[in-house]
Parts: sequence; structure tokens; C-alpha cells
Amino acid sequence: MGSARIFNFAAGPSMLPEEVLQEAAAELSNYKGTGMSVMEMSHRSDVYARIFESVQTAFRRVMNIPNNYSVLFLQGGATLQFAMVPMNLIGKTGSADYAVTGSFSGKAAKEAEKYGKIHISASSEDKNFTYIPRQEDLEIFPNASYFHYCANNTIYGTEWNYVPETGEIPLVCDMSSNILSKPVDVSKYALIYAGAQKNMAPAGLTVVIIRNDLAGNAFPYTPIMMDYATMIKNDSMYNTPPCYNIYILGLVLNWVEKLGGLKALQKRNEEKAALLYECLEESQIFHPVAEKEARSNMNVTFRSDSPELDAMFVARAADAGFVNLKGHRSVGGMRASIYNAMPPEGVAALADFIRVFEQNILR
Ligand SMILES: *Cc1c(COP(=O)(O)O)cnc(C)c1O
Repeated sequence: MGSARIFNFAAGPSMLPEEVLQEAAAELSNYKGTGMSVMEMSHRSDVYARIFESVQTAFRRVMNIPNNYSVLFLQGGATLQFAMVPMNLIGKTGSADYAVTGSFSGKAAKEAEKYGKIHISASSEDKNFTYIPRQEDLEIFPNASYFHYCANNTIYGTEWNYVPETGEIPLVCDMSSNILSKPVDVSKYALIYAGAQKNMAPAGLTVVIIRNDLAGNAFPYTPIMMDYATMIKNDSMYNTPPCYNIYILGLVLNWVEKLGGLKALQKRNEEKAALLYECLEESQIFHPVAEKEARSNMNVTFRSDSPELDAMFVARAADAGFVNLKGHRSVGGMRASIYNAMPPEGVAALADFIRVFEQNILR
């Protein structure tokens, strides 16, 4: 089975650990002797309630989440949170701060404009989002209901290497593309959200970690499904939750814990990323796109000075079994997404492939 797998560098949906897929396959049609698939179970059944609870508990354990926070399993993707966050939180003062460091944080700010006054605290658009603003360059308004940023910019390949210091202003973060990649001090945040399809589970599940005191302030017109208070009160089961995806998240969390948890994964992810960045620094034809201090450990963006050469690289790489390396159209070049599930061997093999490609070009 293993030999048929390919090194898939897709930005999302992306690779899941092979062990997880095998475990899911083994239980697909008959979950632990119940005679049915997890897909076919009532979300109110005892069997499913046990799965749900164990996944929530495991998630809390892995992320070390304090008791005054709720973990919600929602739908609608990270993109629905672009609206849900302001609808629930902006009413306090009518305004919010946004740091715009890429495509998704820009979309989040734009969506929030429908619900209040949005102040752009910092932007890295002047250099096509190749860097992350420094703490001293963040303009934080004392009147903001919250400060929103995106921890890892999936498209541009940049990642915040610090947690913004916002004083009394609640911190809200889109962690879609780096959640579970390293330890996070959840207590520094008011709210964290993430779509599952980068580092957690198949698309269709969105995880929200919210400090409980923040719920209950939604605008009166907020759809009941988009009110955090509804979801906290009903433990994410006001309606049918994305049952099967939650089960897969549970398998992924088991895998994370078997590898030693987030601290061990952080080390593994840093080593994986270093393999690629070192290779790109040595290269005479390719170079990383992001500024050094802002480089992402999850999405490695790189290019040559020739779009034709980049296209040739992407095609040859695909022939050699390294797929989905084409960069996003707004950046060009290449992007290697190396989330948790990409094995170190895959990254090492790609680095070798880059070196051999280059030798052949320069010869
Ligand atoms: C993929 C992604 C999104 C969009 O997620 P959806 O689940 O498709 O809505 C938002 N933010 C970041 C950082 C992402 O990587």
C-alpha cells in the first residue's frame, strides 16, 4: 500500500498521515464491531458521543487548552469565521484591528468591514507580502474590540515568529495552516480558528477555540448557527456536526501524540523546513520568496528568475513523483506545502531532486 503513495505538496486539502488513512480504512464499514461506519451513526448515539468526547479531550490535551475555553467543531471553513468573528465580537466597541499579511487576512478584514469600522494595524502588501511586520510596527487602537491576524500565510509562505502583544485588546488568530505544527500558548488568545484541511482532517470541519467570556455578544440578527453562544451551549451539536471529519481528527491526534506531541512535531517541522531552505540558499537558480525571518515552516515558496524554468521544474518534479508544487497564481514560482503529514523523507527527496535538476540545467 505504501509504495502507491506519492509525495503530495498540495496547500490544502493536503496529505493526511498514511497510518491514519489505513486505520480509517480498516474501520470504514464496521467501526469496532458496531456493524456500521462512523459515517452512518446518529450523532446522538452513545457510540458517537464517546468518539466526540474523546476527540475533544485529546484536542484539549494536545493543545494544552485551559478550562475557561471551549473547543467547537463547526462547518463553513475558516472563511465563515471571517464573518462569524466580527458578528460575535465587534459589537463591544464597533471597531477592530486587522493585520494584513496575505490573501486570507485581507479577505478577513474585508468581510469584517460589513459589521464595523476596521482599522488596518499593519500591512506587508508594499512588498507583496514577503515579510511579517514587527511588533513595534503594529498600530494597535485602544478602542478595538479585538486584534485579528493570520499566523501562517499559506499562499505567500510567511509565518509570524512571535505572538503579537496587544495588551488588553483580545487577540484573534486564523491558524488554518499551522495549527498542530508547534506548541501554542492558548491563554494569550481570545479566539483561535482553523479550517481542518491543512493539518487536521478532511475539508468540512472548522475548529474554534474560544475563551468562554467572549460569547454572548453577537448582533441580534446573527444566524443562530453563527452565534458562538449557541455552539458552546450545545457542545457543537445544535445541528448535525461534521461527524466523520471529527472522527478523522481523532485519529490524527492519536498520531500526533504517538510522535511525541506538538513539541516533537515542532522539531520535526523545523528540521524539514531547514532541509529545503538550506538547499534553496545554496542554489544558483532558485531562491526562497519570503524574507528570512518571516519564512514559514509549513509552506515553502521559491522561484527562479524565469517563469519558463519554473514551469519546467514543476512538470519534471511531477514526473518524478513530487506533485502540486506550482505556486499560487498571485505569487508564481513554486510552493512546497510540508504540513505535519509530509514525511521527512518526502522533503529530503525533494531537496535532492532540486539539486539534481539544477546540476542538469547548469551543465
Ligand atoms: C485555507 C485557508 C483559509 C480558507 O479556508 P477555508 O476552509 O477554505 O475557508 C483561510 N485562512 C488560511 C490561513 C488558510 O490557509
